[in-house]
Amino acid sequence: MACAVGIMGGTFDPIHLGHLVAAEEARLRFHLDRVIFVPSGAPPHKKDYEVTPAEHRYAMVVLATASNPHFEASRLELERPGPSYTVDTMREFRRQCGDECRLYFITGADAMLETLTWRQPEGIAALCEFIAVARPGYDLGRLSGALSAPIMARVHVLDIPGVEVSSTELRRRAAAGESLRYLTPLAVAQYVRTHRLYREPE
Ligand code: ATP
Ligand code: MG
Repeated sequence: MACAVGIMGGTFDPIHLGHLVAAEEARLRFHLDRVIFVPSGAPPHKKDYEVTPAEHRYAMVVLATASNPHFEASRLELERPGPSYTVDTMREFRRQCGDECRLYFITGADAMLETLTWRQPEGIAALCEFIAVARPGYDLGRLSGALSAPIMARVHVLDIPGVEVSSTELRRRAAAGESLRYLTPLAVAQYVRTHRLYREPE
């Protein structure tokens, strides 16, 4: 049987339950064999704060996904020099998985809207389909107005129980010395503490 793979890209600074719930819901509803988490190397879109070194973000993705046999962490964007574009990433996964594979790019509602600003949205849509996952505070209904018809034809909207967690909020909490418990897997919370991520140097 042909394989079905979901690709979940993100900064993952740090990974949290919102990412994991979105990926697991997509896996179950679309009968995916695997969901591959792809932390960005040097993110072209995020300049409003200092992004944590990629090796830390990758390590936290490994910790968070270890207990799910269907989840994997990819170093693809880490090992590529310069900023990575989704179209290049999806081209590589399409090459690895083969033409028969059902390939999906999974994003939250906010990131799906950003597709418009990505390089070559049509190029991405030719390589894979999209799963746009509900995220509290972002209206999935806006998608059809914002995206062109050929792109919209490749988008599957996935309504999930909203998990109102963001990496921004986790960074704020860590900086303030507040608990991350139950917002991210325990191993990630411990990693953040051990490495003093998101805190001012002593
Ligand atoms: P930041 O606050 O730094 O932007 P974030 O929480 O938005 O972080 P990202 O790494 O930017 O996390 O997001 C990666 C992907 O996960 C995006 O497609 C985003 O829409 C999706 N995502 C993040 N949080 C949620 C959530 N709570 N529910 C559903 N999707 C989410
Ligand atoms: Mg974000």
